[in-house]
Amino acid sequence: MAKAKGTTLIPRLKYIDVKGTPAQKEAILALLRPEFQAEIRKGILQAGWYPLDLLVDLSLAIDKVMGKNDLALIRELARFASEEVLNTVYKMFFRVGSPEFIVSSSANLWTRFYNSGTLKFDFNKAEKKVTFQVIDFDQPSHVHCLTIMAWMEKTLELCGLKLRAAQCVQCREKQAAHCEYLFRWE
Ligand SMILES: [Zn+2]
Repeated sequence: MAKAKGTTLIPRLKYIDVKGTPAQKEAILALLRPEFQAEIRKGILQAGWYPLDLLVDLSLAIDKVMGKNDLALIRELARFASEEVLNTVYKMFFRVGSPEFIVSSSANLWTRFYNSGTLKFDFNKAEKKVTFQVIDFDQPSHVHCLTIMAWMEKTLELCGLKLRAAQCVQCREKQAAHCEYLFRWE
């Protein structure tokens, strides 16, 4: 089963601390399996590997307690995480890079966040569009798909691109061979 790096979990826990209350945090933890609760109480390590289900269940619990239980917060969480990680750890990208360089660097980060699959991209500067494909990820999940799409969307915005369309073209959850997202900008 797929695993996610602690760096994907830590911004979500920070989101609770920054935007939520202690009571909400307890309510979120109470929705998780005992072993996941224990991991979080013990302290998530940046470099640790955790079950993808922990990332998915934590995101869903936050959406339920702090949002409307309609998955809208999944997108906001991913955008928050993207900004946290890219604005701090990978700030260099934005100082030195063109959007194409940043997209390629972000795609290369995949194996730092997940131990399964790869993220391929096709950046078309002339047509002002980029497609991403998640290939061979061994645990298709709608929540994870929303997360990846929102993460890339925020990354493109942080590059200074003004997006006019963001689309999930196909998804393994709907029996496609892989997940694919398409973004167009002005
Ligand atoms: Zn998908």
